[in-house]
Amino acid sequence: MQKTRLVSGVRPTGLLHLGHLEGMLKNTASLQDKYECFPFIADWHSLTDVTDTSNLPHYKLQAAIDWLSAGIDPDKSTLFIQSHVAEHAELSTLLTMVTPVSWLERCPTYKDKIQDINQREGPSAGLLEYPVLMTSDVIVYKAAVVPVGADNVAHLEISREIVRRFNHVYGDVFPEPQPLLTKTAELPGLDGRKMSKSYGNTIQLSDSPETTTKNLMQMVTDPGRVRRNDPGNPEVCPVFAYHKVYNPDEVPQIDRDCRSAAIGCVDCKRNLSEYLIAELTPFYEKRAQWASKPEEVREVLGDGANRARGVAQETMAEVREAMNLV
Ligand code: SF4
Repeated sequence: MQKTRLVSGVRPTGLLHLGHLEGMLKNTASLQDKYECFPFIADWHSLTDVTDTSNLPHYKLQAAIDWLSAGIDPDKSTLFIQSHVAEHAELSTLLTMVTPVSWLERCPTYKDKIQDINQREGPSAGLLEYPVLMTSDVIVYKAAVVPVGADNVAHLEISREIVRRFNHVYGDVFPEPQPLLTKTAELPGLDGRKMSKSYGNTIQLSDSPETTTKNLMQMVTDPGRVRRNDPGNPEVCPVFAYHKVYNPDEVPQIDRDCRSAAIGCVDCKRNLSEYLIAELTPFYEKRAQWASKPEEVREVLGDGANRARGVAQETMAEVREAMNLV
C-alpha cells in the first residue's frame, strides 16, 4: 500500500541551528516510517533573503549533512535540493496564473518582510510569489500532509486556497495539503530573542560540543538577577526554557533554587550544558561521520533529485494535460 506523502523543507540562508533540529529535522525523521517523506533544501527560497550566494553551496551541503545526522534515511526518504528538480519552477509559473495578487499581498510573512526592506525598488516579485513556489514544492509530489508547528498552520492556508482555485478551473488534479501538527520545542536564541541567523544568536548544529557549551555559558539569564544572591525569576530566563526541553526532571528543583537564589546562573548553565550535550551526542557522532564523506552526501542528494524528479514529472504530465498544454 502506498504511504501518504509528506514534504518538508529548510532554507539554507545560513548554517542550520538547534531550532531547525528540534522544530523540523527530528520531526521529519520520526515520521519517515509512517509517511513517504520528501525532505528538501529550499535553495530558491533562500534567494528572497540572500543576494550574496557565494556561501550557498557550503550551506546546502551542511544542511544535507544535518538532515542525515538527524536521522533521515536515504533508503526511506527522498532527500534533495529544490533547484535540482526544475518541475517545481514550472508548476510555480503555472500556479501564478490562477493566484490573485491580492492573496499574495495579504500574506502575513510578506507584510512582515516588506517592513524590513529598504530598497528603492521595493520587494522583489520573488518575495511576493514565495507562497506560490512553496505550494508548488508540496503539490508537485501530491503530498497530502506538511508537518507544521501550531504557529504555522495559517501559512499553509494560502496553499490550500491556490489548490482549490486550480482544481476548480482545471479539474481535480491535486489533493489539498493538510497540516500535520508537530510538537516544537520553545528554544530562544542566546540573547533571549527568537533564535534566528539574522540576530546572530543561534546555536549552530555544525558547532563542536565545546563551542556549544561555550556559547551556552554566555546565554543571557533573568535580567533582574544582577548579583549572585538576588532571587531570580526562571519564567523570564532563556536558560530555564532550555531546562524544560533537555532536563525536564529537574525543572521543579531549578525553579525553587532559582527563586531562592540557592543556585547561581553559572552552575545552572553548566548543569544544562551537560544535559544538552548528552542529548546531542548521537547527532554529533553521526554528523562527524557524514561530514567526513561529502561525496557520499552529494550522491544521496543526486539520487534523491532523480527520484523526486520522476514523481514530479508524472504530476507535470497530468497538469499539462489538464491545462491543454500538451
Ligand atoms: Fe536562569 Fe538558572 Fe539563573 Fe535562574 S538560576 S536566572 S533559571 S540561569
